[in-house]
Amino acid sequence: MKLVFATNNPHKLQEISHLLSNSIELLSLNDINCNDEIPENQETLEGNAAEKSFYIYNKYGFNCFADDTGLEIEALNGEPGVYSARYAGDERSAENNMNLVLEKLAKIKNRKARFRTVISLVIDGHEIQFEGIVDGQILEEKRGKTGFGYDPIFQPEESHLSFAEMPMEEKSKISHRGRAVQKLVEYLIQHKDN
Ligand code: IMP
Repeated sequence: MKLVFATNNPHKLQEISHLLSNSIELLSLNDINCNDEIPENQETLEGNAAEKSFYIYNKYGFNCFADDTGLEIEALNGEPGVYSARYAGDERSAENNMNLVLEKLAKIKNRKARFRTVISLVIDGHEIQFEGIVDGQILEEKRGKTGFGYDPIFQPEESHLSFAEMPMEEKSKISHRGRAVQKLVEYLIQHKDN
């Protein structure tokens, strides 16, 4: 089966292709000559993931999946959530985004937060979604250099390290995206012959 992952992010592609069985041929947006700015206009992770996967399915005719992720901070009523990439502005600066979070939480004791990923899979026009969550807390300051986005200020419950202090493989085992991908892969392996 050919399956498009609606991304050109090489890290995400690598992570998934190495988990998938050989009977599934994973294609990127480049592979199908799609250079479109894929719309992401919804107000939920579920809505955005579905908008992206149906866009590819409807326009290009490939079975497809797409993901959307947000950092949800309890004391900020779930912010930045679906706006995680551009929380501090359209330049999408990870440094500015983290600084804004640290500023907003400066006098707040409740540091509980979670990352949540939603994957939308569309096969023959039918959609199914998979969710992955990792609970943790926002640190008082940035720690570590690996990873991306909010990794230096997020510490998962399972560890005393921030995501940016962990080797990528360790992070993938417990991360929101890793968990959602695991569910997707289990589903695909079970249904690949149907
Ligand atoms: P996306 O939906 O995967 O593009 O993620 C949206 C935004 O959430 C990214 O631009 C990052 O700011 C943040 N984000 C997503 N995944 C992670 C992660 O694993 N670590 C830190 N930040 C992340």
